[in-house]
Amino acid sequence: MTRLPGLLDVEGVSAHFGRGSQGETSKLHILIVEDEPTLGNQLKTTLEQTGYAVDLSRDGEDGHFMGSTEEYDAVILDLGLPEIDGLSVLGMWRKEGRTFPVLVLTARDSWSDKVAGLDAGADDYLAKPFQTEELIARLRALIRRASGNTSSELTAGGVRLDTRSGRVTLDGEPVKLTAQEYKLLSYLLHHKGKVISRTELIEHIYDQDFDRDSNTIEVFVTRIRKKLGADVITTIRGLGYSLDDPADAPRG
Ligand code: CA
Repeated sequence: MTRLPGLLDVEGVSAHFGRGSQGETSKLHILIVEDEPTLGNQLKTTLEQTGYAVDLSRDGEDGHFMGSTEEYDAVILDLGLPEIDGLSVLGMWRKEGRTFPVLVLTARDSWSDKVAGLDAGADDYLAKPFQTEELIARLRALIRRASGNTSSELTAGGVRLDTRSGRVTLDGEPVKLTAQEYKLLSYLLHHKGKVISRTELIEHIYDQDFDRDSNTIEVFVTRIRKKLGADVITTIRGLGYSLDDPADAPRG
């Protein structure tokens, strides 16, 4: 993403923070593969009203293609589908390394469908007919679980920041940061590997009427380095700061 220097990237940050928290429905992308037109359309409408971006596919071949080529946060997959059945579609996705959570819709009380679905890599199932509210609740839980590891914890080397609890640890040991230090660190972690200007940091850290002295950013960076290690944040002379993950560094 390109950004004008000094422009506050509020949207990117809130979208990232939103994952796995209450704001999770804002822009999440869901695929429904369901051949019954009434049910498919009804689900699509309901989920869109809930705030999801929804694609609807009506057969296994098309559904498989969409799941293979698009990035989805979750998939609702009917098992009885034309062209390719749902179980085969799911198996193909998992073979291809698609890891999005899949909620399988099974025929009423079909124990064997449920077992087969879970064996094929489904994360949850729901027997037809079901209440839409229950489907939405299951979907939410699935997305929360799936995004739990990646989005609530930001890491770089031995530094871990949990955006839900607000805890920061260094090699597993808790580290106390002030509110400003925390904001600065979490902003850099969200933009890992990118150079962030002082102006951008100031805009992110301070409330509007706070005295904006760009020298204080250097003070915070110094304090963070004292607490988390000298090399945690790199000063890019004349441009700003960057935080890099040692694990991402090119080798050789
Ligand atoms: Ca069906």
